[in-house]
Amino acid sequence: MKIGIVGAGIAGRLLAFKLKLENNNFDIYLFDNGHKSCSYMSAGMLSPFCELNSAEKIIADLGVESLNLWKSDIKSIEKYSHEKIFFQQNGTLVIAHRQDIEELKIFKRNIDGRIDESLRPYEILNQNDIRFKEPDIEDKFSQGLFFEKDGQVDPRSFLFSIARGLENIGVKIFNSHDAKIDKNKINNERFDLVFDCRGLGASEYLQDNFNKKLRGVRGEIIILQANEKNKIHLNSSIRLMHPRFPLYISPRENNKFIVGATMIESEDMSPISVRSSLELLTAVFSINSQFGESRILESNVQLRPTFEDNLPKILYDGSGYFSINGLYRHGFLMSPKIVNLAIHFSLNGEIEKKYEEIFEKV
Ligand SMILES: Cc1cc2nc3c(=O)[nH]c(=O)nc-3n(C[C@H](O)[C@H](O)[C@H](O)COP(=O)(O)OP(=O)(O)OC[C@H]3O[C@@H](n4cnc5c(N)ncnc54)[C@H](O)[C@@H]3O)c2cc1C
Repeated sequence: MKIGIVGAGIAGRLLAFKLKLENNNFDIYLFDNGHKSCSYMSAGMLSPFCELNSAEKIIADLGVESLNLWKSDIKSIEKYSHEKIFFQQNGTLVIAHRQDIEELKIFKRNIDGRIDESLRPYEILNQNDIRFKEPDIEDKFSQGLFFEKDGQVDPRSFLFSIARGLENIGVKIFNSHDAKIDKNKINNERFDLVFDCRGLGASEYLQDNFNKKLRGVRGEIIILQANEKNKIHLNSSIRLMHPRFPLYISPRENNKFIVGATMIESEDMSPISVRSSLELLTAVFSINSQFGESRILESNVQLRPTFEDNLPKILYDGSGYFSINGLYRHGFLMSPKIVNLAIHFSLNGEIEKKYEEIFEKV
């Protein structure tokens, strides 16, 4: 079977990899324009239950199943790429400054309202518990919630490792400046199956053919590296209550930290604003003033591909064309499961009942 995939962000790469492992006889072509994708700029937080603060239950369900899949997917990618992917499952600690404590209560209420009490995914912590879990954060947080199953993956080590893996298992990768899709054709060449994983690059096609509007939601992040003399150690990701966006600090290897991410309803791709920089950096400084000596390695801006209802979709038209899009702020959180759903549907016509709402035919 000849399969074409356009877009090598998380969706396209994971799909190409899993399809080839599904059947080594599949002849798989992956096209990308080589731009720095949304996936490249992502923070890679895998926090299904924290997302319930503002997202629907289906996102948490996809996220929980994906967390389990991440472990096996990473193992098989590393097996073929021989390149390590940074992944850890040390949980998320959610805290609030005294003036934002009401936000923490609302956060907890939102999660409680969307999940069965018997499945409560967090532990309630007092000041001593917080000190014990994270000795390096300042001793001024009196309440917290700890989500022990949450994880983090480093998007860049993932993208690099899987690219190597794809080459090694025989996926054909092409640099295509502006690949054109028309049903089951890519650049006028016919395929048995075509997967459109172009993120925002698919906006016009999805509008014209499916009447689906994609928008970009601006996100800004900062990457810091703690000073050798003032090393800071965080065991888990820290989510600090903020009235405007979900603010987190996520530890990486080599004393690096990802601080993110703003959520702005705009397709403006200009550099990070002073206001966002101040908000992100002030938050970091407030949890440990030694961050003041950290170095700012990068600040990044990207647009999250998002449908009007903020939910992901697998769209198809019966010609062999499938689109995986609308991953919004959950691309890393949900992709392992969404990709599996797309594969089973495209090859066997099967849709898992629990997730049928994300499939749509035109
Ligand atoms: C600041 C920020 C932080 C984030 N943090 C998280 C997080 O912590 N956890 C999480 O789960 N998600 C997070 N996200 C969201 C996540 O990054 C996205 O949901 C995900 O990357 C979308 O992946 P994708 O594969 O659909 O699209 P993309 O990553 O955008 O990939 C699409 C690819 O297609 C290529 N392309 C487009 N058009 C064409 C064309 N015509 N021809 C050839 N190639 C084309 C693009 O160049 C790109 O390489 C974050 C996003 C941002 C911006």
